[in-house]
Amino acid sequence: MHITDIMQGDSPTFSFEFFPPKTPVAAEILYQTIRDLESYMPHFVSVTYGAGGSTRDLTHDLVERIQTTTKLDPIPHLTCVCHKEHEIESILIRYAKTCIGNILALGGDPPRGCSYDKSGDAFQHAIDLVKFIRRFNESGGHPDRRGFGIGVAGFPEGHPATPNRLVEMDHLKAKVDAGADYIVTQLFFDNRDFLDFRERCALAEIHIPIIAGIMPITSMSGFKRIAELAGGTRFPAKLLRALQRCENDPEMVSRVGVQFALEQCHDLLDNNVAGIHFYTLNRSDATRIIFDTLGIPRRRNAQAPTV
Ligand SMILES: Cc1cc2nc3c(=O)[nH]c(=O)nc-3n(C[C@H](O)[C@H](O)[C@H](O)COP(=O)(O)OP(=O)(O)OC[C@H]3O[C@@H](n4cnc5c(N)ncnc54)[C@H](O)[C@@H]3O)c2cc1C
Repeated sequence: MHITDIMQGDSPTFSFEFFPPKTPVAAEILYQTIRDLESYMPHFVSVTYGAGGSTRDLTHDLVERIQTTTKLDPIPHLTCVCHKEHEIESILIRYAKTCIGNILALGGDPPRGCSYDKSGDAFQHAIDLVKFIRRFNESGGHPDRRGFGIGVAGFPEGHPATPNRLVEMDHLKAKVDAGADYIVTQLFFDNRDFLDFRERCALAEIHIPIIAGIMPITSMSGFKRIAELAGGTRFPAKLLRALQRCENDPEMVSRVGVQFALEQCHDLLDNNVAGIHFYTLNRSDATRIIFDTLGIPRRRNAQAPTV
C-alpha cells in the first residue's frame, strides 16, 4: 500500500524494522518474531539492506516472502553503496512486480572489512536515489500509478558526516523536495531531540510525516553496540543511572530499557507523533510489552499467523 494511504487519518502509525537473517537459526528466530508480531497488525514493517552482495539477496528474498506469505506490508531499504544504475533499476522492477508499495531510500553504511571507494557509486547521496526512484515512478513502471512511496532518513541529533546543522537541514530539505513522502528518524533516547528536530523541519518548510525511530535497550551488550553503530547517539543521564543500578542483572536491564522506551512512546503520542517505528533487532519481546502496555487498539481483527 502506498505510504500516503498508510498514513492517512489522524492516528499514528506503528511499524517494525527487521534485518535479513544470515543463518538458519537466525532465520527461525526472525520468523517466530514475525509470527508473534503479525497479530499486532503494524502499519508496515521494514527490512534493512546491507552492503554486501549475498546479504542484499537476503533482503530481497525476505521482503518478497513477507509480501507473499503474510498480511504485513513490507518496505525494503535501498542504499547507494556499491550500486550501478542498472542494478537499482532491476531491483525496482522486481519490487514493482511483487507490488511492493514503498521504498526507504538511504545513503547507506559503507561495507565493513574491505576497502570502499564511494566515488565509484552511481549515486553519491540518498537524494540521487530518491530522484532515480521518482523517474522510475514517472515512467509508469509500477502497478500503482503513483509509483513507489519514498521514505528517507532523518537524524534528530544530527548526522556525523555533516557537523554544520544548517547545511544538514538544507540537505534534508533537498531530499524531501526531490520527492520523499515521509521521514523515519534515527533512534534517539531524549524526546526533546526529536521534538526539536520536528520543529526545525517545520521551519525549513518540510511538511511530510516524520516517524520516530525507537529502540528499546534489552541488554548491556546491545546498549554498547548501539553506542558504536549509531555514532553520536546521546544517552541521557536518567537512562544511564537506571542502567548502572542494575547492570549485573540482565533481566532487570531489559525491564529498565523497555520501561524507558515505553515512557518515550507515551510522551511521543502525547505530542502527536506521526508514527513510531520500532527497531526490533528481530526479537518481539520488548516490542510486544510496549505495545500491550501502550494500550493501542489492534487495527483489525488479529490475523492467524501465516509465516
Ligand atoms: C531509519 C534508518 C534506516 C537505515 N537503514 C539502513 C540500511 O538498511 N542499510 C544501511 O546501510 N544503512 C542504513 N541506515 C544508515 C544510513 O544509511 C547512514 O546513516 C547514512 O550515513 C546516512 O543515510 P542518509 O540516507 O541520511 O544519507 P544522505 O542523505 O546521503 O546523507 C548522508 C550524509 O551526507 C550529507 N549530504 C546529503 N546530501 C549531500 C550533498 N548533496 N552534498 C554533501 N553532503 C550531502 C548529509 O548531510 C549526511 O551527513 C539507516 C538509517 C536510518 C536513520
